[in-house]
Amino acid sequence: MLYLNNINLYNPLILIKNNENDQSGKILNLKYKYNYSHDVVDFKNRNTVSFSGQKLSKALEYIQEVKNRYEAKGFKPNSFDDFNLYKLDGLLEGTVFDGISMEDFSSLCSSIENIILIRGCSNGCIHCLASAKPFKQGVTGEVGTIIWEDFKNLTDSINEIQKRLEFNPFGKYKKEFLPFHDSDPMSLKSYDNTGNPHNITEAVKYFYDKTEMPFHITTAGWDKEEGWVQKAAEELVENTLKISDSITAVMISVHPFHKYMSKSIEFEKASKKVENIGKKDLLEEKSQQYRQKYVDRMANVLKTFLPLFKENKASINLLYAPYHTNKSEYNPEVSIQLFKEIFDKLKKICKPEEFSNQDKQNFLNNWVKINQIAANGRAKIFFNQSEILNQQNFYVNKEVSIDVNGEVIRIISPQYMYLPTGIRLNYTTKGKNSHLT
Ligand code: SF4
Repeated sequence: MLYLNNINLYNPLILIKNNENDQSGKILNLKYKYNYSHDVVDFKNRNTVSFSGQKLSKALEYIQEVKNRYEAKGFKPNSFDDFNLYKLDGLLEGTVFDGISMEDFSSLCSSIENIILIRGCSNGCIHCLASAKPFKQGVTGEVGTIIWEDFKNLTDSINEIQKRLEFNPFGKYKKEFLPFHDSDPMSLKSYDNTGNPHNITEAVKYFYDKTEMPFHITTAGWDKEEGWVQKAAEELVENTLKISDSITAVMISVHPFHKYMSKSIEFEKASKKVENIGKKDLLEEKSQQYRQKYVDRMANVLKTFLPLFKENKASINLLYAPYHTNKSEYNPEVSIQLFKEIFDKLKKICKPEEFSNQDKQNFLNNWVKINQIAANGRAKIFFNQSEILNQQNFYVNKEVSIDVNGEVIRIISPQYMYLPTGIRLNYTTKGKNSHLT
């Protein structure tokens, strides 16, 4: 039962006593909560009250006032529901969010999923849900990777706002952020103003140190020769073993859709069509080379993340396409066979003490999940029209993301439309477009 206990028209806070009674009328759960109203009306002077343009000091005074009232009742405000958003105007002063209305900021806090650090991807997976375009470095007038100072400024701003509010507006420990959308976050190389590059582990570490919130990493892997990424991955393992909560998990995608595998499949198909033995052998050899390249690459990725598997901080997403006679190269059996080859290679490259029998069992029983791809983006080629329209086959999404240039965008799937929200953070690249939107 809800009782309005006190209404003060000159202060838009409404103190609500929310009682739960048992059958005899005894109060079981007594809660006081300040509720905010968006219709702030000063009845005495018959006009609406605006706090727009209010300074930070006023917002802090208001936070203190609400805290005092809560404390008197033995509670602590811990979300924007406990405040009048209008009276918090000024809270974002001096931060990367300065200039955004408190209503927009509050809705951003509750709906954001991605803090995008990099746009574009070189993995060229033919099933890519986000239809990722190739990564390009340094396109004039456009942004492909976040500037390191912008990332730090965003992180520091979240930290500063947490301090001002004395709670985390994004929900402490309840959230994970994805640092990517149409990219592989492991390949992040974010340059600072002095020209020094920073990798994904530095980003994870900096973000967690300041906000106590984790990133979730998904990767399609890298070639062992890519020293920058290999080092970043080793550092990620080391950091996660020290600070387990700094990431929620690393999910490794394994599938025959990666560009190496799709090339291998193309050569294999071509070899079946030619009569000339020499040419046939050559095409088969090329097919095998690409397949082996993928197997070696993924075995090294699994070996690198082995310590995280053992801590249940890593898993494998083994993907396949639905059964179709004309695309049988991507059926579940094909993916399972591919994983077996990677697993055999992993056993060969690991010392017995690194990879115990128990680990092998865990891989097969717990660490690999096998899933059908969703009918989004480029993956639609693996589905017929009725399957595409079947809701079970596509993954509906309404992600709110902060793009690499500070623009807040809503990504709607399965169409994968990028809708501008009109909100833009004060990144140094504010005047530039992200080159892939
Ligand atoms: S599926 Fe992921 S790794 Fe593959 S191209 Fe798309 S973004 Fe890149």
